[in-house]
Amino acid sequence: MSKAKRTEITKLTRARKTTRNILLAKVPPWTKGDKKLSVANPEAAAMAQNVIDETADHVHLREARILLLFEEGKTPNADGQVELGRARKANPIVQLLGDRPDFIVKLNAETWDAFDPSQCLALMDHELTHCACTVAGRFVAEGKLDGFVKRLGKDLVSVQNDEKDDQGRVLVRYRKRDEKTGRLAWRIRRHDVEEFVAVGGRWGAWKEDLAHLALNLQAVDVMDKPGQPDPKMPLMAGAGGGTMREAACSGKAE
Ligand SMILES: [Zn+2]
Repeated sequence: MSKAKRTEITKLTRARKTTRNILLAKVPPWTKGDKKLSVANPEAAAMAQNVIDETADHVHLREARILLLFEEGKTPNADGQVELGRARKANPIVQLLGDRPDFIVKLNAETWDAFDPSQCLALMDHELTHCACTVAGRFVAEGKLDGFVKRLGKDLVSVQNDEKDDQGRVLVRYRKRDEKTGRLAWRIRRHDVEEFVAVGGRWGAWKEDLAHLALNLQAVDVMDKPGQPDPKMPLMAGAGGGTMREAACSGKAE
């Protein structure tokens, strides 16, 4: 691993006295048999806050309230996959109680403990990427563009000078807000890429999203990254082959 990557990991795992966007409610854990749900520890909360503060893609989450939970006793599904985490929008009943979170992020406590810091950061980054807000678009006349952009301020996402309607107005993308509360319009973002390991093994990066992913994977220094496949396990095994010991999270909205 490069020195720069190690420095980044140290920065993103540093402790914090406060976590502005991560709620640390003082409530006792819920347990049932082997299952347990509890508020995440301060180390995980600090990591989440650091990732929000240091990642441009998460800039909208600097206005979010996120309840971070640890979940124990997760059982594998029929394909032998164990969910590593899950992000949800908080429903109105949850919002009514306590700290009014916008999102609830659950992390698998057992795999979290087994992960090294870079894996924990990747999982946290993954779950936080599910926590998105709605981006709207509006065509604006060029003469009114400066004023409109100024009014949007931090909600401005981009001015698409190359996208114009038939009246020559320019497309402006911006983060949408609730008219009454002024809060961002939160939503759950789905995965960019869905594919089976075995299909990737047979057909490679056969569509654009996979090609983008392959490019990004090559660009990252993964020499001693731990997410490497076990060389004793056949890469090409299909469904039910048991090669996917850990499933990526599922980001379904409730
Ligand atoms: Zn996910």
